[in-house]
Amino acid sequence: MAANGKAESPMYDYACDAVAEAPQKGVLNPPPRLLCGPGPGNAHPRVLSAMSLPEIGHLDPAFLSMMEDIKEMLRYVWQTNNAFTVPVSGTGSAAMEACVANLVEKGDKMLVGCNGYFGPRLIDMGDRYGAECIEMKKPWGEVFSYDEIKAALEEHKPKILGMVHAETSTGACQPLEGIGELCHEHDCLLIADCVTSISGVPCHLDKWGVDAAYAGTQKCLSCPPGVSPLTFSQRAMDKLMARPDKVKNWYLDMKMVASYLVGSGGGARSYHHTAPISMCYGIREALSICCEEGLEARWKRHREVAEFFWVELEKIGLECHVSKDYRLPSLTTVKVPEGVDSKKLTKLLLEKYQMEIGNGLGDLAGKVWRIGLMGYNSRFDVAMTVVAALKDGLE
Ligand code: PLP
Repeated sequence: MAANGKAESPMYDYACDAVAEAPQKGVLNPPPRLLCGPGPGNAHPRVLSAMSLPEIGHLDPAFLSMMEDIKEMLRYVWQTNNAFTVPVSGTGSAAMEACVANLVEKGDKMLVGCNGYFGPRLIDMGDRYGAECIEMKKPWGEVFSYDEIKAALEEHKPKILGMVHAETSTGACQPLEGIGELCHEHDCLLIADCVTSISGVPCHLDKWGVDAAYAGTQKCLSCPPGVSPLTFSQRAMDKLMARPDKVKNWYLDMKMVASYLVGSGGGARSYHHTAPISMCYGIREALSICCEEGLEARWKRHREVAEFFWVELEKIGLECHVSKDYRLPSLTTVKVPEGVDSKKLTKLLLEKYQMEIGNGLGDLAGKVWRIGLMGYNSRFDVAMTVVAALKDGLE
């Protein structure tokens, strides 16, 4: 500061303004929670270690090579050969919006299965990108039959069908076998929300004819949220490439993102945005853990732990909301018994046992708890701990 009280240089004023005191918050120390709600679940310790490794540049050949590993492992986990299979920067909703922003053109009819919280989110996005959206409705906790989907496709003739494979708000798993073929007969693309199914529930994207799928990392992959798997089939890529207009979202324009993640002529990569390096380390490690375990073993583990959990719940007098025929192994909705305050119990579990379970959402608010046994937490010991805590909380 110069003697006249003015800053010495208008460019560099080193004096703080009125908000003078720097807040002193100390070292970060989050409570040690057992995360058994709808997500995030606890990250695998190996994933957390990977995320603390030193960064390298996002155009470093070592980073690009790691990106290729991520893409290859994602194809395996999703059982697809789609060339365009990438981690999108952002949480599951970013990959969801990437599907809608890139594949929906103004005026396209978009039919969406709405039997929970996340179908309507797809509708909301479709609406923002100029689609003519049609809701195909079912009560929360039920799923659509092949014939119901066929009838709706015949009636509405949409360009896009959006289905939530694993509805986190209800715990229901939507069968998708044969649906892609049905869509293709009607010149329609199938988008599948696999946020709560990826790596925990069988996903056969190519066999089911899924054209675009998105997921999250914070559920069965046991990686913190921040990047989100996305894949487009050749059919989806053809629709994107044939668009006469620009994708109406700069950040999520997959034509542009592909120039970095996939590369253009000769494989050269060009800058679009800075990849979240540590998140990419995280998903890389999470996928590597899946590949070491093997998909079949991982799917089976989720199923066996869930079956055990459901039996133990029954022993303490609790009932599941969703029919066993289409109940998700990764996320169980448990009916709140008559006269019990659901939120009071979730609060007690958090405070007494450091355990997070989820309350019901939307139509199921106050009626169910949502309990996730996903990825690293899909274990018999965790299932038993949740049952013991619930039993104590209900006594
Ligand atoms: N779809 C489903 C089925 C989800 O469960 C979630 C999140 O829980 C999302 C989409 C959105 O993902 P995110 O919250 O990571 O943005």
